[in-house]
Amino acid sequence: MSSLCSFRLTKDVDGRTLDVLIVFLASDELRAEELSTLVDRQVQDALAPDETILLTRRTAFADCVVAIGEDAAFEGVRNRLGRATITVISFGAGGRENSRKVIRDTGEISGISIEEIGRRCVSSMFAIHGGFVEANSNYHFLNPSQRHTDRFIRLSNLLSSSAEISLLAMTMLPLVPPSAEVAHVDTPAMFALISAVNDNLRVLAPKRPWLRCENFRSYLGVRAHDFATGGEPVVLISASSSGSLAEVIATRRVPRDRIGHVLYLGEEDERVRRAVDLSYDQNRNPEGVRNDRETYEDGNCKLCAAGSIPVPLKGDQFDMGGPDFEPLTMLKTDAPPGLSATMDRIAGTDAFRISTTKGAGAKQFLVDAGSLAAAETFIKRTAYLARRHIPSMTREVVLLDEGSRAFGDLVAREAGIAPRFVARSEVDDLDTSDETQDGMRLDGLPVVIVAAVVESGRSLRDVSRDLRRSRSSSPLIYLIGCAKNASPARREELEKTVVQTHAAAKHAFASVEDIILPASGPPHAWLAEADFLNRAVAEGLELGETLAARLERLGRSSEPLVDELFLPAGENPLRIQPGFVFWPSKTSQPPRQSSQADVYYTISSVLQALRTNKPNPEGRALRTNWFQQTRLDPANLGRFNDGVIQASILRAARPVEIDYSTKDDFAREAGRAICRIMDAAHRPRGEAACEALVALGSGRLRVPREELERILAERETFPPLVSELAAICRHLLL
Ligand SMILES: [Zn+2]
Repeated sequence: MSSLCSFRLTKDVDGRTLDVLIVFLASDELRAEELSTLVDRQVQDALAPDETILLTRRTAFADCVVAIGEDAAFEGVRNRLGRATITVISFGAGGRENSRKVIRDTGEISGISIEEIGRRCVSSMFAIHGGFVEANSNYHFLNPSQRHTDRFIRLSNLLSSSAEISLLAMTMLPLVPPSAEVAHVDTPAMFALISAVNDNLRVLAPKRPWLRCENFRSYLGVRAHDFATGGEPVVLISASSSGSLAEVIATRRVPRDRIGHVLYLGEEDERVRRAVDLSYDQNRNPEGVRNDRETYEDGNCKLCAAGSIPVPLKGDQFDMGGPDFEPLTMLKTDAPPGLSATMDRIAGTDAFRISTTKGAGAKQFLVDAGSLAAAETFIKRTAYLARRHIPSMTREVVLLDEGSRAFGDLVAREAGIAPRFVARSEVDDLDTSDETQDGMRLDGLPVVIVAAVVESGRSLRDVSRDLRRSRSSSPLIYLIGCAKNASPARREELEKTVVQTHAAAKHAFASVEDIILPASGPPHAWLAEADFLNRAVAEGLELGETLAARLERLGRSSEPLVDELFLPAGENPLRIQPGFVFWPSKTSQPPRQSSQADVYYTISSVLQALRTNKPNPEGRALRTNWFQQTRLDPANLGRFNDGVIQASILRAARPVEIDYSTKDDFAREAGRAICRIMDAAHRPRGEAACEALVALGSGRLRVPREELERILAERETFPPLVSELAAICRHLLL
């Protein structure tokens, strides 16, 4: 640990710019070797300065003057500094200059004051360590003072070396009245500074009381905190740009001369006492913060208007608390555009399925190409696109994968062409010199690339790259049966990439169906369910007939799930009732038989759209990051009281989106909502009871223990399967 820190400043004196090396000594002992290393590095990096100033405590001053001036051990330092002026300055308990001595005068003397040294060195620290936490285009900050801003000062960013902390503490000394006994601070980072203030005072004013430190937690605690008892107070605020917290403290009957700021970046105001004014000043603080940023009133914020989300700073003023939990209720308008129409066409075709395969390449969302290609509306739309985009002179159709053959046939038939089908693996063998049987050069004729189902789009990018070699002059037409996209932006990006060409017109790209869905890989709710049941077996519990069959079914991964997605509480499988808000009314009405997977895909799509929404002023988005965690409002389970929808929500949500484990109002509301389902487990209203228990048992849905106890309590009305699952959950969770 070094007791020295150094800064390089320039100072204009009589029209000449002097290069000044500031060395701060944070102890009373100056070690020749340490100083020598520091000076070596400085001279190496930036040549010898015009003046070197050693800044010490009053108590170390005399020894330092003698050592540097005469001690043989410092001979090397004197030599390395060449012709530089060497000055020693000391400070006292009040943080003011105590004495100053020029040890070696070469005529280059800056005369820089101790106040200026403190201000400029701390401003340098601020610039070097990055004192701001800055927003990006997605979010900005809502100050505890209820103002919106795109950056805020975090004192703790500056605290990296003990010597620098000691220098910062020196600048705070003028703010500490000699009688002060308790330092009331706004944030935990201040504890380090108060401790450094004590270190300085211990030698500079040994009779003064040691400052004790109390954290009032900024705006959170300022109105309730006791500033009076415990001893004479001094209130030290880590950073401010307005002095508004100090105003509140002044109303708590703390005298103004006992309130101070460590870092201040705001308008000049004589009532604001501060250790360091960070603002830029061409002469007095060229290291300062140059660009002013505006802050905005809550409700009249330009950043909010531009679609950025305000992240509230809670707890200690400039230390961010945990993520802010916001509840979200799904609304009809949250559905991605076109979802309702897509579901109207696809629901009931059995194209949407859930796969329970594990391992690399496993896909939860398995769209069955054969079922799609057999569906009437799908055929009609494909026919239209085929005629719209595929020229009659097309001779080659590339099949993206084996599953695309039926779709390829459909496309060729509807376009009225009889092409040669090229398997994906054969694309590498194509050559620019390839010809048709009647001797026409194929490079230059249109090539159609068909894919029944596309997920990431990478496979399309790959084939487009490979075709560039052998069919560089050909117009390419991409025709996709069903494009699964993680967001509308991804869809756009994919299209943009593959249609690019140097030719006169862009390549064509069209998809029959588009649906927004999350990435398909594990983990997902069905694998979690299997883990849950396996854990019960491993714990020595014997599964009843139904659950044993269920576990076996989940393991039979070669057969995707269509209508066995959910465990029913009673005899009948869960079925959607007419009037599902995300579908046109006729879709869910008999005689059309939509599947459970259709409902699950719909809910998954709505949630994914909410996850990938661009920031919007209404804040309608599911976000899970360090700043924000949006949870699904437990009220969703009440609003969507259809068992199959409730089950879909519980399975489609990410665990973090239905984590109600923090004891708060949402936990109680979640507990109540699930209890209502359990109470009605023998009725249609409670048909999702098994699903709720699976969600809890697999750890995807979380509530506090007391809620869990209420939910899992045995009820006489429980159907046998609900009773069994509740018992397993009690065994594993309580
Ligand atoms: Zn704002």
